[in-house]
Amino acid sequence: MRFWMGRMALNRLLPLVLILFVGSSLGEPHSVKIYFEAHDVSPLYKAEVERILNELDGLDVLVFVIPNHGGVADLRRHRDFATKLGKYRVVLHGYEHRPGECDLEAVEKGLKVLRAVNLTSDYFAPYDYDYTSSCLEALGAFNLTPLTERYMGGEFCPYREYTWYTPSFLKPVLVALFRSDLQAFPCLRVGVHPRAVDSSWEAFEEIVEVAKRLNNRTGN
Ligand SMILES: [Zn+2]
Repeated sequence: MRFWMGRMALNRLLPLVLILFVGSSLGEPHSVKIYFEAHDVSPLYKAEVERILNELDGLDVLVFVIPNHGGVADLRRHRDFATKLGKYRVVLHGYEHRPGECDLEAVEKGLKVLRAVNLTSDYFAPYDYDYTSSCLEALGAFNLTPLTERYMGGEFCPYREYTWYTPSFLKPVLVALFRSDLQAFPCLRVGVHPRAVDSSWEAFEEIVEVAKRLNNRTGN
């Protein structure tokens, strides 16, 4: 009888032990490439952007730069802010951050502002992510790569955001989603929006910590 009970306990425990063992060994894969995306980088969100970029220090970051946010925040009048963006990979993010700003005129105006503050960009992401055929034509004319949600550096690289306006009790869920995405893809783009991240800052910090740990392991 005692032997039978022992067998029962073992049969029940074994799957749990296996799950824990496999789960912990797969918890953080070694070869995933993570790009963080700081969205809506504009002098109008100066404090928020600086806080985010500070947190992301040492990681691979794309900054989505708005050249003249709302028509009132021209980077040429905020040179100190613009200069600090020079060390990141810049994505031109429209011109004033309005729908439909992906045509020859808007792209040209945006690039002109970037040039004037010594920034260069290889990528473009429209305000509304509407890659119309005329948008793609305009990007082609200026040799800009449309930053669609699929590929980075030729690698399948889906886009995710874990830092929407969320109450802090959802932090474990956001972090668990991030960890599960790390398992699922060889490459991941993690979007962060200036004001939304405030309410999910703790989750953001933990996600960044996991990314830094992975980088240290892989020597990225
Ligand atoms: Zn935007």
